[in-house]
Amino acid sequence: MLKFPIPDMLLNSFSELKPEHLTEKDIKLLLMDLDNTIAKYHAASPSVSLRNWIDSLKRAGIEPFIYSNSRGDRAKRFADALSIEYINKAKKPQIKKLSELLKKKGMEPKNTAIIGDQVYTDILCGTKAGITTIALRPIDMTNPFHYLRYGAEMPFRYAYNRRLRLTKKKGDKLGKH
Ligand SMILES: [Mg+2]
Repeated sequence: MLKFPIPDMLLNSFSELKPEHLTEKDIKLLLMDLDNTIAKYHAASPSVSLRNWIDSLKRAGIEPFIYSNSRGDRAKRFADALSIEYINKAKKPQIKKLSELLKKKGMEPKNTAIIGDQVYTDILCGTKAGITTIALRPIDMTNPFHYLRYGAEMPFRYAYNRRLRLTKKKGDKLGKH
């Protein structure tokens, strides 16, 4: 069946994602895209807000895990600085490495989420793997290419908002009974 990459959650930045959003869904493993999700493209090391956010996840019993398509040692440097694990060259939206990781960790898809700024890689990957998907607006929209891609992703972001409205309406109706 063809699956559309409609995110389960859409946020402006990683810091909007509170640990309780994940614990209430019983999420124990959070796969994080690196570039433009938890760091700017050229950031050399984690920001203070990122460090604090990672600590808050760990305290809530959630494992933050860098899951990046990047090459080189960037993912490793961030993972080491944050004392977490990582996979680079993940080849999202392919899910081979993701499936292997879940198997290795003994983790179920229902207890796993992915957060990222790209609908066609991060969110599609999560949708295919059957895990919770969280889309972010890219940190850096100054690059015209990112802007164009963001435009191309609009139908999926729209579909997300529409579904949210419908769910809310349904909820309101239910609430009246
Ligand atoms: Mg990214």
